[in-house]
Amino acid sequence: MPGPPIEYDAVIVGAGPNGLAAAAALAGAGASVLVVEQDERPGGGCRSAELTLPGFVHDVCSAVHPTGAASPFLRSLALSEHGLSWLHPEVLAAHPLDGGSAGVLLRGVQDTARALDDPGWRRLLGPLVTRWDDVSDSVLGPLLRLPRHPLALAAFGVRALWPATTLARRALGTDAGRALFAGIAAHSVTALERPLTAAAGIMLAGAGHAAGWPVARGGSQAIVDALGAHLASLGGRIETGRLVTRIDELPRARAVLFDTTPQAMADIAGERLPARYRHRLTRFRYGPGVFKIDYALDGPVPWTAEPCRRAGTVHVGGTLDEVASAEAEVARGRHPERPFVLVAQQSVVDPTRAPSGKHTLWVYCHVPAGSTLDMTGAIEAQLERFAPGFSDLVLARAVTTSVELATYNPNCVGGDIGGGANDGLQLLFRPIMSPHPHRTPAPDIFLCSSSTHPGGGVHGMCGYWAAREALRHLEGAA
Ligand SMILES: Cc1cc2nc3c(=O)[nH]c(=O)nc-3n(C[C@H](O)[C@H](O)[C@H](O)COP(=O)(O)OP(=O)(O)OC[C@H]3O[C@@H](n4cnc5c(N)ncnc54)[C@H](O)[C@@H]3O)c2cc1C
Repeated sequence: MPGPPIEYDAVIVGAGPNGLAAAAALAGAGASVLVVEQDERPGGGCRSAELTLPGFVHDVCSAVHPTGAASPFLRSLALSEHGLSWLHPEVLAAHPLDGGSAGVLLRGVQDTARALDDPGWRRLLGPLVTRWDDVSDSVLGPLLRLPRHPLALAAFGVRALWPATTLARRALGTDAGRALFAGIAAHSVTALERPLTAAAGIMLAGAGHAAGWPVARGGSQAIVDALGAHLASLGGRIETGRLVTRIDELPRARAVLFDTTPQAMADIAGERLPARYRHRLTRFRYGPGVFKIDYALDGPVPWTAEPCRRAGTVHVGGTLDEVASAEAEVARGRHPERPFVLVAQQSVVDPTRAPSGKHTLWVYCHVPAGSTLDMTGAIEAQLERFAPGFSDLVLARAVTTSVELATYNPNCVGGDIGGGANDGLQLLFRPIMSPHPHRTPAPDIFLCSSSTHPGGGVHGMCGYWAAREALRHLEGAA
């Protein structure tokens, strides 16, 4: 008996940035595409909402987008025609220290080295930024293939293998430079003494120098709205409010792509995937969680260090040693007393985020996976340390624990925001070690979420690479 007729070339489960990027890449190549999303709105980890008071627009998950601005795929889509506008703060990121000074990440490598009074910054980042296009092409693509630019990759690779703490101590000569690098590397949510943690610091700082650390005008939601509009212009469809639990619930398609965790894909695809492969996916590891607070503020944050007032991102946690110690605590499964706090102040550059004279603030700290602990007190003590009087400005706050985040988005297992632990070999090879990480043993099933290389962040590259694999299959099957 023939099955039901084929309705689409590709169905994508999940409308996060990677699901939408995969859909856009497929539709752009002429494929008919449907995206199915469990939430009432597309966007996954890239949505905005009035979480506190009317008129205050908060980024529910992602806020600052160095990897979005640097993404070769997103850049190729002319999303500005669909309303996406990147707003660049004057200071990309600032890292206050006790005593009123701060390390600053500026757009120029030279300018940053000068502001830090640390020529090590130029030596560390200058060669990478000069060859940024070659390096990002190699690093943002599947790694177990012949790199197109082996020399550029080698220059990046040797230092990227080091622990962030070691690299910061050896390559940089000032407290401000070391703290700044540690704060950037800590975006990887990993103990900074571990090998390979320098990679995140080098890549994110390099992306900043090459493309900036912008926010999206009107909220991060504008990124996925633009992706959705681009997709619609190519004839692609998005269906929301539909949780997929079994692959045979989906309309028949020549290819199915999963913007989900590896485990969810295994559960939904069931026996369409060999048991051995499903078993391998159970070994995929998830990282720590986050505890997040969104604030409506009566005015700008009164940072003691002036550059912090002009920064889009502020890393709060003190010296390199303090940041490393807080992250090590989390890696041991404990809640740090003095957490490392990531802060985004979107309204410093985007007046649409809050009523006139008021501000929004987005902050989170890392916590053990599955944490339900309220870290508000510990976070606000750190903010008061570098911005005395902060608490007096709070009009309202919305808090999200790790467990609540996991409920909001099933891809955030235990509150993990990176789609899986970013340590050891899993940083490079995800979900399994393979030259084709987005493929599965089933020729028509693909994984396109941030649990695949190149990992977390709103860049759409996981979706793009998965779509390339799916297109190869569609062409072969035609
Ligand atoms: C609190 C927080 C802060 C962050 N900050 C930043 C930042 O500042 N900058 C940055 O670049 N990145 C940031 N990130 C990371 C970024 O949001 C993610 O890396 C990115 O969203 C991953 O995209 P994705 O498409 O792989 O997955 P997701 O964005 O998680 O999207 C997956 C989608 O699939 C849907 N889905 C899952 N299972 C099913 C199912 N069975 N049926 C139907 N639908 C399903 C989900 O509902 C979701 O919409 C942050 C994330 C969080 C949570």
